[in-house]
Amino acid sequence: MTGINYFMSKYLTLGKFSFGMGDRFAHQGKAQLQACVKATALGAEFIPVWNKSNREHTFIGTEPSSLRAEADAAVKALGWKKSYHVDADHIRLETVDRFIAPSDFFTIDVADSIAKPAAAADVKAFVDRHPELTGKISIPHIDRPFEITRAEVERVANKFLLAVQDAGKIYQHIVKAKGAANFITEVSMDETDSPQTPPELLIILAAIADEKIPIQTIAPKFTGRFNKGVDYVGDVKQFEQEFNEDLAVIAFAIKKYGLPPSLKLSVHSGSDKFSIYEPMRKALKKFGAGVHIKTAGTTWLEELIGLAEAGGDGLEIAKEIYAYAIEHVDEFCAPYASVIDIDKTKLPPASVVNGWSSRQFTDALRHDQKNPAFNSSFRQLLHVSFKVAAKKGDRYLNALKKHEAIIAKNVTENLFERHMKPLLLGQ
Ligand SMILES: [Zn+2]
Repeated sequence: MTGINYFMSKYLTLGKFSFGMGDRFAHQGKAQLQACVKATALGAEFIPVWNKSNREHTFIGTEPSSLRAEADAAVKALGWKKSYHVDADHIRLETVDRFIAPSDFFTIDVADSIAKPAAAADVKAFVDRHPELTGKISIPHIDRPFEITRAEVERVANKFLLAVQDAGKIYQHIVKAKGAANFITEVSMDETDSPQTPPELLIILAAIADEKIPIQTIAPKFTGRFNKGVDYVGDVKQFEQEFNEDLAVIAFAIKKYGLPPSLKLSVHSGSDKFSIYEPMRKALKKFGAGVHIKTAGTTWLEELIGLAEAGGDGLEIAKEIYAYAIEHVDEFCAPYASVIDIDKTKLPPASVVNGWSSRQFTDALRHDQKNPAFNSSFRQLLHVSFKVAAKKGDRYLNALKKHEAIIAKNVTENLFERHMKPLLLGQ
């Protein structure tokens, strides 16, 4: 076995289809896993992965070990026999340490190093080492061969090589602490300005192989807008072509560079990108490829929907959260400016919402685009307002316990009906 393949063989393997679920307040683990149980029963097996970023932990005031505890408890309660994972989402060298013991999936975020040039000698060495990246590259299932000049390889290396080297450093740091065989590695590049094209993805994967990172999921930035909690905004046809070409590039790179056969795309969806699920499903089928789909805030919004649906004190707390959020709209939206599109004129004043029935609140919030009362600005604002619930402390958590049944029903139904079914089974 060559050095690279030997190295690449040491990793925890991720299943073909996996579903990333965020659960900000750590009360919906069972309800989320129930969606995987239902999907598996229909032949759409999803391996559950619970993800929570450093930012989310900091906002809520939780430790990564609490996510492990939640996942283990949910698995035990439902008797889930297949694998499951706990994802240290969007970690960097400065933030990874408290995640190492409880996590077995690491999303190494190197977006901040994109466009910062690597050492000139490293760039030159990379380009020299990869003459196969220059010229005409025919890739099965891509109609027109890529034509990449040496100058272009150099440009891409200048843009991404430092980021990949950083990923290598973080990966090695985790290996030292945890052992290579004990975790799954994802590299994410989605939180950046411009999408990576399929030829860029190929060059990035060559660099990742050089760093000997046994990468199993890669999260590029795709074309179009992935706003938080609402549908995809962009050219679906163009997305479809890019997604297909990315799948072709990955299949090609696995063979060419000895990357793990389980390598697949990770779609950091920002939740609820319903209009691209069908083209994704078709493409995955065509390539026989797997996918990791990452959601987070969609579950927090189902908590609010469940509370509102419960009426009484549940509805009351949901209205209080909105009333506070609309008073702090600029403050809450600022950190998410690039991933939300809120039309402030569409946000009903608190005085109006305070008079709403359960039905009016859930109609505005639930992600049913066919419902004329659905309000995407209302939904996006609440998506980024989970800090308000965190501030309520036990009062919020007690409401979650009191209304567990109605919330759980919404959480499971959302993941199963709106996400898993369309992704793997079609509507
Ligand atoms: Zn992401």
